[in-house]
This record gives sequence, C-alpha cells and structure tokens, in this order.
Amino acid sequence: MTTSEQLFEKAKTLIPGGVNSPVRAFRAVGGNPLFIKSAKGPYITDEDGNQYIELINSWGPMILGHAFEPVEKAVRDAIQYSFSFGAPTRKEVEMAELITQMVPSVEKVRMVNSGTEATMAAIRVARGFTGRDKIIKFEGCYHGHGDSFLIAAGSGAVTMGTPDSPGVTKATAADTLTAPYNDLAAVEALLDANHNQIAAIILEPVVGNMGCVLPEAGFLTGLRELCTKQGILLIFDEVMTGFRLAKGGAQERFGITPDLTTMGKIIGGGMPVGAYGGRADIMNVVSPAGPVYQAGTLSGNPIAMSAGLAMLHHLNAHPEVYTRLEEIGDKLVTGFRNGLVKAGLNYTINHIGSMFTLFMTERPVTNFTEAKSCDLPLFGRYFHAMLKRGVYLAPSQFESLFLSVALTDDLIDQIIRANEESLLEIVG
Ligand SMILES: *Cc1c(COP(=O)(O)O)cnc(C)c1O
Repeated sequence: MTTSEQLFEKAKTLIPGGVNSPVRAFRAVGGNPLFIKSAKGPYITDEDGNQYIELINSWGPMILGHAFEPVEKAVRDAIQYSFSFGAPTRKEVEMAELITQMVPSVEKVRMVNSGTEATMAAIRVARGFTGRDKIIKFEGCYHGHGDSFLIAAGSGAVTMGTPDSPGVTKATAADTLTAPYNDLAAVEALLDANHNQIAAIILEPVVGNMGCVLPEAGFLTGLRELCTKQGILLIFDEVMTGFRLAKGGAQERFGITPDLTTMGKIIGGGMPVGAYGGRADIMNVVSPAGPVYQAGTLSGNPIAMSAGLAMLHHLNAHPEVYTRLEEIGDKLVTGFRNGLVKAGLNYTINHIGSMFTLFMTERPVTNFTEAKSCDLPLFGRYFHAMLKRGVYLAPSQFESLFLSVALTDDLIDQIIRANEESLLEIVG
C-alpha cells in the first residue's frame, strides 16, 4: 500500500468519504486520491514522494505557481503581528482599494472567507436591494454549496427547480429558476413567466464548473440588456475567472459591467478568502451601512489579506503575466489538438486564456447537456494515463484546467507529449 492509500483508508473512517471537498475523492475517475505533502512552482509532490506537473493549481489560486516568494514573504512578515484581531486593519483598506482599481464594476467591496460565502451574500444583497425573492441561475454553473445554488433544472427551461441535494427545502428550490447556459430565449421565457419577481441573474461569465464553456456572442450583452430593462441585478460569479482571464476578470475581457461581482480563489493567494462587491448604491444596503445583514469573525483576516494583497499587487503591476498565460494556453491547446489528430480523434477542446478543457465528445460543448454527452469512463482512463506520466489534471471531466506562469516551455512540451501518449494509450 502507498502512503496515500493508507491515509485514505484511515481518512474514510474519520471524514465523510475521506475528503473535505467531494471532487478530491477521485470518484469521477476511479482510483485512490493522492495525499499532497508539498508544492513549489509548477510541481506538486505527494506523501509517497511522487512529483507531478500541476494543471489544477489549487483550482486557480496558484496562478503564479506554488509558494510564490512574494506571497510567502508577505505571510511570514504578517504572522509576527498575531493572526487575527476581529477588528479593522490597514490591510483591509488597501485590499478594498486594490480590488476597486482592478475590477471594473466594483465600487465597494466586502471581504468574506470563501467563494460560497460571497455568492450567498451577493444574492441576499440582490434580494434586499430589489425587494424580490427569485433568482435565475444556469444549469452546470457552480456557485458554491449554498442552498439556493444546489438546484438542477427540470426538462424544460421554464421548469421550476427541484433540489439537487437532500437537505435543500422545496421552498428554496422554488425561488431558484434555471436556464440552459447560452440560451437567452430560455431566460426571456423565465422573465415573462415571473414578471417583477426576479432579484438577480447569476452566472459564471466563462464557466469553469462544467468543464470550460464560453459565452456565445451576444449572450452576456443580452443578459445585461434584459437585467437593465427589468431592474434585475446581474451578478458575475468571477470566483474562477477573476484576476485570471484578465486583471479585471471576464468583465474586463468581454467589456460587460455586472451590478455585483463575486470573487474567491486567486484573491486569497491560496488562503481561504472570498469577496463580493459592485455598485456603491447596491453595496450600501449591506450592514452596518444598511439593513442587509452579513458578517464574519475572521473576515478580512490579516494573514489572508497579506497573502491576497501580495498576489494582487503582483498581478496588477505585471501585465506580462497575462500575456504569458495567453501564450502558455495557446501553446498547450495547439499541442493537445495535434495530439488528438495523431490519435485519430475529433474531440472538442474549449479554451480561453489560461482555462481549457478537453471534452471526450465530438459535439461542440456550449451547455451542460452537451457537456454530459462526454464519454466519462474514457476520461477516467485518460486522467490516469496522464497521472502515470506525471501530469496532475482535475479528477473530473466537468472541470476546467488552470494554468500558471510557472510552466516553462520545456514543461509545456512534456505535457503535450504526455497528452499524445495518453490519447494513443486509451484509444489503442
Ligand atoms: C469554487 C467556486 C465557488 C465556491 O468557492 P469556495 O471557495 O469553494 O466556496 C463559487 N463559484 C465559482 C464559480 C467557483 O468556481
């Protein structure tokens, strides 16, 4: 037995499913999860001493590679002043100022401790601001584990949501309406059927959570227009795309300004941090400025703020990071496409900047139904073929890969070769 296997056996007796977040358990690809001991730059190392090239990067935060020195130093410097005060600090002001400078739509911002907290708070604010109860989300978009977001669609676009998880009440499900991603007509139908009842439309402006799925031309603009016309708040969940697709996230890249934005992952530099922000008149409803309650004992934690600030300062001051991420993404995806051709496969790759997914299907993937048409057992075999060759992918077809600038050209070539060999192995 490997050390990872031993740890997993013990973990299963102590932690539900042996993990503290479900996708880590490798259930979607089979096999035993790797227990990670350390990581540096582009590499992650497990408890058995195996080293892998990273294409998950903690699901996004390690955009500059693991244990990036300025972030590490900021944390070391901060801990000597104690770890938490539960009182305001200078760093929170600096953080808020930096975020409002970097993210186009954000005039005021509140720090929280995770992406889940950010999205839960954002819809409460939207409801408090508009005085309406219902929200619209899109099938296959993930917004954390808040009750309102664990709703799958019925068969039709205008179907009332049914809970996706036991423990979510019918009443909560009834307030969450769902539409297929990229389907503006379905959204219009929901709006017609629920006139003056929709507080917010929330979406990932580029989806990472059904695999990488891009908004089609006109989709984001169409949503923006519908929201403006009907007094609905448009919420971009940029927990994945924020500070990744551009310094100012997808909203900068696509030139669309949402009313509220949720952030996480990169914003903490690897520490547990989230944030939500937007128009000042909307954010002013948040307690204690206004009546919508939201709080957090550890929110704006000084160690977490130090890590996040070091990360965001670096990204803000180094636009070449984004140029390099585009280069790395283009180079890898070109190599992956060549690999598919060599293996005689016509599978779909969705790609934007430093996010991409190889879908095991020949169909284009523009929504969740299409993503679900993938050959999942084949993806499982591909995942393990890549792992065997030292490349650590997300252990599910329904995830995007996240690139970091720590990937050198040599490593990119190595990953491309691993992909070619893995594809030949699984079809052979
Ligand atoms: C990861 C994620 C979340 C949830 O963030 P947590 O920090 O895991 O709670 C919310 N929205 C999106 C788009 C995410 O990718």
